[in-house]
Amino acid sequence: MSKFDAKLRLEREEPFAKRRRLGLTKCNLCSSDNAVTHSHDSRFWFGDGDIVFRVQDSLFKVHRSRLRCSTVLWDMFELPQPPQVDNIDGCPLVVMAGDTAKDWSTVFRWMYDPAGFATQAGVFDVLAGTLRIATKYDMPALRESAIQGLQFRWPSSPALMTHNAFSNAAEAISLARECDVPSIRPAAFYALSIQRWSHDAEGGSALLRLSPDDARHLICGQQLLNSFHLQIVINPLVSETENGRTCDHCASYVAEYWRRKFTPDVSSPHSCWMVKVLADMILNNCDLSDLGVQICTPCQSYHRALVYERLTVLVKEIPVIFR
Ligand SMILES: [Zn+2]
Repeated sequence: MSKFDAKLRLEREEPFAKRRRLGLTKCNLCSSDNAVTHSHDSRFWFGDGDIVFRVQDSLFKVHRSRLRCSTVLWDMFELPQPPQVDNIDGCPLVVMAGDTAKDWSTVFRWMYDPAGFATQAGVFDVLAGTLRIATKYDMPALRESAIQGLQFRWPSSPALMTHNAFSNAAEAISLARECDVPSIRPAAFYALSIQRWSHDAEGGSALLRLSPDDARHLICGQQLLNSFHLQIVINPLVSETENGRTCDHCASYVAEYWRRKFTPDVSSPHSCWMVKVLADMILNNCDLSDLGVQICTPCQSYHRALVYERLTVLVKEIPVIFR
């Protein structure tokens, strides 16, 4: 059984992060006699660890060798250490100011138990916490892993966006700015721009997390998209690039089809998700058979060209609008 397996067994036997109020008594786990309140994360308190991290009021005794993944920390350990350093349980103490114990606990899990970390990797708070730590302490592999998790929810192409993009979209925009991950911003902005706040249990309070500059971006982008949507509804068969047109027989049927597809569903938690409507049309092979009338072949071709033209414009313009 590995040391980590033994720790996991310990975790099942004892409550996680067992809080020990020391007062002036010694802590029987780390022998600290500091008159402070602290807790040990039992998953990351290794008997043969050689460095102790203090993050908020949590202590972690881990192996220095695991910290090679961080150039900032590793470089720090390479520097000559002052003769008088605080130590706990015979190990030097490093105090991580400005971080949260929860985030570091997740990072240690990634270091010691990548498979366990992967099971949590879809949770926004986990991704955000690890990205902040990975960016601050220059951990390229962890940063890449967190970015991949975020890109799964907010892909660089709006055509790949799914319902997963709606929750935490505002937080993702702020996180992307804070940690310099511009690739997730367009999809997060797009999701936010079509979200209906009257359907949201928080009533749009997530918007308050946006910086004034991002709020301005959101409103400007929303107006441009509304204008694009309005053009389709008013003139469904007018193309920006195609020279052809629909014949007199088919025009009203095809126009009606487009208007129906682009009429927002009032019961939906989002307004017209134009990219999805167009992508679904393509998935359905731009089929017009549900109109109940025969559409001539040239008009079917023109309709197909309109679908591809509009999707191409949106996929190209949304990152420009919101970046
Ligand atoms: Zn026709």
